[in-house]
Amino acid sequence: MKFASLGSGSEGNALIIAGASGTTTTTVMLDCGFGIRETERRLARIGKLPQDISGIVVTHEHQDHVGGAFKFARRHRIPVWLTYGTFQAVGEEACKDVLLHFCRDSEELVIGDLSFMPYTVPHDAREPVQYVANDGVRKLGVLTDAGQSTSHLVQALSGCDALVLECNHDRRMLEESVYPPSLKRRIGGAYGHLANDTSAEILAAIEKQKLKTVVGAHLSLKNNTPELARAALCGALDAHAGDVMIACQEEGFDWIAIG
Ligand SMILES: [Zn+2]
Ligand SMILES: [Zn+2]
Repeated sequence: MKFASLGSGSEGNALIIAGASGTTTTTVMLDCGFGIRETERRLARIGKLPQDISGIVVTHEHQDHVGGAFKFARRHRIPVWLTYGTFQAVGEEACKDVLLHFCRDSEELVIGDLSFMPYTVPHDAREPVQYVANDGVRKLGVLTDAGQSTSHLVQALSGCDALVLECNHDRRMLEESVYPPSLKRRIGGAYGHLANDTSAEILAAIEKQKLKTVVGAHLSLKNNTPELARAALCGALDAHAGDVMIACQEEGFDWIAIG
């Protein structure tokens, strides 16, 4: 299995996951927060065409995750998996002429050679889920857009070979930022986004025997730095700075193979 990011953060997210079994390869897009042309341009950067994408799995209705998902799906005739709550929040009109599949917490869905386990997270959306991708050999856990840790998410992410883990903000930087108090409360709240120290706690709590790769993601451009996020994750892993990668808004990250 391998994965790459087209971009990560509040301006737009899209994670590409490719898994092979035998002679076939399945490529799936997890969220699509970029417009059609921008998504195509960013896909080309990692050597993929729209027609390579077998399905789009969606986490929740916020624009940085679905801003381009249904338009891209309609244009390129790609089916979309989402929770019923996300569908309700997005509205029927936005999904018109798109083949939809509904998913729910703890019920695995299969797209070609890949399967995805949705798990519920605390976030201020209608029915938000995050996913653990599995190609039968390796597991990639993804967690962004969660306000706090829960035993449910710690269990879901345990035993993964690789993780993409939100490090949204540094608490002090958020507190001292120019954001209005209401926005600070939303981001830092129990249904907002993960602070570096909470991400580190999650990383410390999960079962990590197979874990080889950790990528910090969905960093705030204003209230965090790659160095702070990296330091928090490395602290929890007892690892060196070079062992942890950080996804960025503009570049995402290039293919990472889970060996
Ligand atoms: Zn987001
Ligand atoms: Zn969100």
